[in-house]
This record gives sequence, C-alpha cells and structure tokens, in this order.
Amino acid sequence: MAWDFSTEPEFQSQLDWMRDFVREEVWPLETLVHEVDHATLLHAIAPLQDQVRARGLWAAHLDPELGGQGFGQLRLGLMHEILGTSPIAPFAFGNAAPDSGNSEILALAGTPEQKDRWLHPLLAGDLRSAFSMTEPETAGSDPTLLRTRAEPDGDGWVINGHKWFSSNGSIADFLIVMAVTDPQARAHQRASMFIVPADTPGVEIVRDVPTMEHPQQEFGRYGGHAEIWYRDVRLGPEALLGARGAGFLISQQRLYPGRIHHCMRWLGVAARAFDMLCERSLSRYAHGSLLSEKETVQNWIADSAAQLQAARLMTLHAAWRMDTEGVMAARRDISLIKFFGAGVLHDVVDRALQVHGSLGYSTDLPLEAMYRYARAARFYDGPDEVHRASVARQILRGYEAPADGVPSEHLPTRREAARRRFADLLETVSSND
Ligand SMILES: Cc1cc2nc3c(=O)[nH]c(=O)nc-3n(C[C@H](O)[C@H](O)[C@H](O)COP(=O)(O)OP(=O)(O)OC[C@H]3O[C@@H](n4cnc5c(N)ncnc54)[C@H](O)[C@@H]3O)c2cc1C
Repeated sequence: MAWDFSTEPEFQSQLDWMRDFVREEVWPLETLVHEVDHATLLHAIAPLQDQVRARGLWAAHLDPELGGQGFGQLRLGLMHEILGTSPIAPFAFGNAAPDSGNSEILALAGTPEQKDRWLHPLLAGDLRSAFSMTEPETAGSDPTLLRTRAEPDGDGWVINGHKWFSSNGSIADFLIVMAVTDPQARAHQRASMFIVPADTPGVEIVRDVPTMEHPQQEFGRYGGHAEIWYRDVRLGPEALLGARGAGFLISQQRLYPGRIHHCMRWLGVAARAFDMLCERSLSRYAHGSLLSEKETVQNWIADSAAQLQAARLMTLHAAWRMDTEGVMAARRDISLIKFFGAGVLHDVVDRALQVHGSLGYSTDLPLEAMYRYARAARFYDGPDEVHRASVARQILRGYEAPADGVPSEHLPTRREAARRRFADLLETVSSND
C-alpha cells in the first residue's frame, strides 16, 4: 500500500522557507512595480536572487548540469504553487516566463554551440528571449495551420511570416521562431524551430499588442506581446534548433511540464484571492449581518475550498504521473487539470472580487489584475474546448457502442437475461412456496 500525501521533511522545510520568503521579501516589492522601470525592479530583486541561489533553489526547472536542481515535476509543482502567489516571485527564483521555457527548449534541443551562444547567457540574465509561434491569420490552437515559412537558402534558411503575441518580443535579444520547413510532410512534422537574433535584417517588430492586461499602446515594455513581421530573414545553418521537422515534438516536450507549472501557479493566485474572500467576509457588514453570515458567501467559501482542493490534488497527481510514468502517460491528466484549473482560478477570483464590490474592481486591490490574468488562462496553452475534446476522445477510446444499440444497463433487457440465467433457482423458490 503506497498511498502517501506527505512531503519528505527535507523538501517540506524548503517549501516552508519559500513560503515565508515570498510573503516577507517578495510581496512587498509588488507594490512598487508600477513606480519603477523593469531594470530598477530587477536591481531591487538581485539580493533576493542571491538568497535563493544560496538556498539551492535557483532555476530549479533545469537539470543540475545547467545549474538547476533536477527536482522533477511534483516538487516543481509544489514550488510553483508558492511562487505563483506573486507575479514577480519567478524573477527571484530564476524561472520567469518566457525565458524559463525557452531555456528548457535550448537545453533540450540545442547543440553545444547554441547552448554556449544563447542558453548560458540567458541563464546568466545577460540575454532576453521570446517564443514566436502564434500568428494573427491562423488559429493558434491548431498550430498545424502555421503559415510562416522557412525555406532552404544555400546551406542556411530564409524566413517569411507574420506573428503576434510573441511575449517579450519587443525587448528580446533573440526569438525562437516556429516555421514550416516541410509543407508536404505529415501535419506534426512540418514545422521546425529557429533561433533568430532580434537584430537580423528583416525582423520587424511592429508593436506591442494592447491587451486586457495593458490596454494602452506601449512599446518595448517588459511583458509586452509583440506583433512581428519576418521578411526575407536570412539565417545560417546554425539557426536551426533541433532536427528539421521536430518543432512540434520539441514544443510539446516543453508545453506539457509548462502546463503543470501554470496550474500550480494558478493555485497560488487562487489561494491568495481565497484568503481575501474570507478576510473581507469577516469585516464587511450589510443588511443586518457580516457577509460571512450570509449563506451565499458561506457557499462561496465552501465551494472555493472544495474546488481548490480538487484542483491541487489533480495537479499533483498529474505531476506525480509525469515523474513516475512519463509525460505521454500523463497526457489526459494534464489536459484535465489545464481546463479544470483555469476554471477554478476564474471562479475563486471572481467570488473574491464580488465580495469586495467596488473595492475589488478597483486597482487598490490585486483582484482585478488576477481576474484579467485568469481570463487568459482559459485559452493560452490550449483553449478549454481543445483540452475537453482531447480528454473526451481519450476516455471514449475505452468504450464501444452496444452492438444492438440497446444501452448495456437497460433494465428490462437485463431483467430478461437474469430470469433466463436464474430460471432454475427462481423455479425452486416458487415451488417451495
Ligand atoms: C498572455 C498571453 C501570452 C502569450 N504568449 C505567447 C508567446 O509568447 N508566444 C506565442 O507564440 N503565443 C503566445 N500567446 C498566444 C497563445 O498561444 C494563443 O492565444 C493560443 O494558442 C490560442 O490561439 P489563438 O489566440 O489564435 O486562438 P484560436 O486558435 O483562434 O482559438 C479561438 C477560440 O476558438 C475556439 N476553439 C479553438 N479550437 C477549438 C476546438 N477544437 N473546439 C472548440 N472550440 C475551439 C476556442 O474557444 C478558442 O478560445 C499568448 C497569449 C496570451 C493571451
């Protein structure tokens, strides 16, 4: 019997340290994010990064030979739950997106030369990166439709295409671009990845797309989502990242673990919103009682607690399965928690915002920012609908339609079969009567 929900004491003490550290040292810095530029913020975070390094928790998503910890998904999940409580904690721990994911891609697929040129400076914080796959003209949820082309050019490549939502594209030193190299190949073998230095002629960063997160047009801001034209971008053979046609394979290897980390971060955000929901309900008085005494609010608290617990266990179970049976065996669990977790995040933040009324809607509290964050979670990394469809398809493989079309639980049919099967016994009982 090997069921066990406990964390080994040594790692639990690391988690306890992280929880206190993030709350005491990182949360206060959040309040200054809009007062200082990104470089100043990073300067303020630098001493915290030193503490994280000293504690052996820096860039924990990477393998030990790259300075990471080789933790495995379950431990990373527990860690991300804590880091997720603050949008800036990932900087303090050396695993902020999109650089963290891009470093994983480079670690996974890069040649030794590519690692020297791009990965090590990225890990040292000397370079910044972006991942450039989504296109305005094609559905990002079905990347087999990508139109951006990379065609052979001598021993190198020439790229033409139009991308958007390349996060950090406007401040990146290099972009990892997904482009079709083999249009006649099978759908998931058509695209390849390329490392494109941002100053290559033909790379035109048009704008940072204004979003729910940043409605005003700005350019070159950290966290912006860039629209980019690639026009006759000529690259040498060293630009190809991984094997030709392996773009999807590499991105899936990165995305599956990435989804679990997202889900754990969402739990951290939702738990913080939940605390606000509970705290406010104990102080706000209306219509003869505290909000905590209203049945609706009590239901919100109970429902949120149940959803958080379910999402947490589902996420940890998926991570455990990845560690014990591999990523492919955990695909269904990952899809389940991706859409379920995004829904839980949304619901809990929504209730916390509602209970705070106009204060919740204002920027005096972080709830409105959490709400905007929660909205995007339902479609990036695969929209809810796609994950639901994938789960349903996998489940349905375990079923088949009844040959005669009659449901196998149809009671009259089963009763008739039981009468035939037990005819002798039934007869005996009747004759004994
Ligand atoms: C904050 C943020 C950061 C991002 N960062 C990056 C980045 O760094 N690099 C990058 O390349 N991209 C990035 N993206 C883009 C993201 O990956 C895409 O938004 C996502 O893949 C969805 O693609 P799409 O926006 O084209 O929507 P579409 O693919 O057009 O989908 C729109 C809607 O269609 C519906 N739909 C799609 N498929 C199905 C289906 N099978 N069944 C039923 N309904 C369906 C869903 O409701 C879906 O929401 C980012 C997006 C956001 C919001």
